[in-house]
Amino acid sequence: MNATPGDRFFSALEATVREVDPQIAEALLGERQRIDRGLELIASENFVSPAVLAAMGSVMTNKYAEGYPGKRYYGGCEFVDVAEELARERAKQLFHCDHVNVQPHSGAQANMAVYLATCQPGDVVFGMDLSHGGHLTHGHPLNYSGKTFQIHPYLVRRDTETIDYDALRDMARQYRPKLIVCGASAYPRIIDFETIAAIAHEVGALVMADIAHIAGMVAVGLHPSPVPHCEFVTTTTHKTLRGPRGGMVMCQAPFAEALDKAVFPGVQGGPLMHIIAAKAVAFAEALTPAYRSYIQQVLTNARVLCESLMELGWRMVSGGTDNHLMLINLGADGISGKKAEERLGLAGITVNKNTVPFDTRKPYIGSGIRIGTPAVTSRGMGPDEMRRIASLIDRVLRSEDEAVWAEVKQQVLELTRAFPIYGSC
Ligand SMILES: *Cc1c(COP(=O)(O)O)cnc(C)c1O
Repeated sequence: MNATPGDRFFSALEATVREVDPQIAEALLGERQRIDRGLELIASENFVSPAVLAAMGSVMTNKYAEGYPGKRYYGGCEFVDVAEELARERAKQLFHCDHVNVQPHSGAQANMAVYLATCQPGDVVFGMDLSHGGHLTHGHPLNYSGKTFQIHPYLVRRDTETIDYDALRDMARQYRPKLIVCGASAYPRIIDFETIAAIAHEVGALVMADIAHIAGMVAVGLHPSPVPHCEFVTTTTHKTLRGPRGGMVMCQAPFAEALDKAVFPGVQGGPLMHIIAAKAVAFAEALTPAYRSYIQQVLTNARVLCESLMELGWRMVSGGTDNHLMLINLGADGISGKKAEERLGLAGITVNKNTVPFDTRKPYIGSGIRIGTPAVTSRGMGPDEMRRIASLIDRVLRSEDEAVWAEVKQQVLELTRAFPIYGSC
């Protein structure tokens, strides 16, 4: 095979590391091969462009830049200021928000900053229950959010497995929260941010919408935006947004100063300027028509994969999907989520186990698996491949025979060979 620009980029990168550290170079190559030869269906993962990778691997990693553009605690910030200004401007263009802070190192830290900007220890906070689709940072007892605040988790309805907005309203009237957290990690349906904000505002609560998973759809207008309704909107930049691993917080103008103080010096020190530069690059990409088509394809692929699995007899939480992910409910007496994850892994298909609403198994075992299409769509796969993937998943889950799993792995290799990513390896 002829060397592509991608091949040259990655072999130069690995060769540079190899001169100093052959063990890490080997691990880097191994990871690139794992990506290339497997089906990545973890809903929170994606593949960034070489331009985003290059910005992440740049000299801006060296710079201390505590503070904000124009108001830094260190000299020599003129070029990192350019990067942060561009990241902020482009984020505003993408999401139409009043103010944005692009410094959070991760989604968890973005959320922590909002808690710090809005709540005191012991305040009443609502978050969606983890096993119903929420995130650890939305009030789980083992997370700082659950340890610091008085958390009341809200749930999905048993019949529809969609958010129980009526119960949420009743809870809000009863407990008068300071903050309602909405947004999810494992929820396949549209979230009605407008209704949640109305519920919160009726009782004088603030709202934080965490769009970590669905940011890409929100950016291109294929999911209703929380920005006009919610005081704070947090996100990761590495999921559907397809940028570097990191976080970001948007807020309405009156909260701008409190938010910036909460990020720095509240919860962080020096910002990761190389990552902020890469965020700017990813946002520029997300502003293109090509990115909009990509997100459309992610949604089409999720719908086709979901329908194909349902036709094969699998039960989906909430009966389908409106976004980039779906949850198979494997059933209380079926194969567990943990077993399903392990077995699919042996066949070259990467998913994660997940609890389903009202699960009777422990979170580490789970009765479901979560499947998402952002990564496979980034390597160019479409509806035909989704139908093929559904049948491969079906074969693996229904068979106890290791030979069948190995045979599926061969088919995964064949399928992925036609959709190379990050050069050939
Ligand atoms: C992924 C995710 C986060 C956390 O992001 P990290 O960067 O892993 O800290 C927060 N909230 C939601 C809803 C998520 O899905």
